[in-house]
Amino acid sequence: MAKNWHPVIDYENCSGCLTCANFCPHEVYSVESGKPVVSKPEHCVEFCRGCQKICPSEAIKYFGDRR
Ligand code: SF4
Ligand code: SF4
Repeated sequence: MAKNWHPVIDYENCSGCLTCANFCPHEVYSVESGKPVVSKPEHCVEFCRGCQKICPSEAIKYFGDRR
């Protein structure tokens, strides 16, 4: 599990489809007021990128990526 790697949601682009929260098998996300929240970032698997790949709105980036 990653200490310095986890998703960051861009809420300006997020549609609230919850594809990411439903997809992630590691309980990184919870849902609050219909939006995904990265509530357990320490559960994220380093460099997985699964949720980013399936987000239809390109609203997921990662803390830990160099930009
Ligand atoms: S998959 Fe993308 S658009 Fe859908 S809830 Fe997650 S971050 Fe938002
Ligand atoms: S990158 Fe993988 S492990 Fe991390 S939140 Fe997304 S789907 Fe879950």
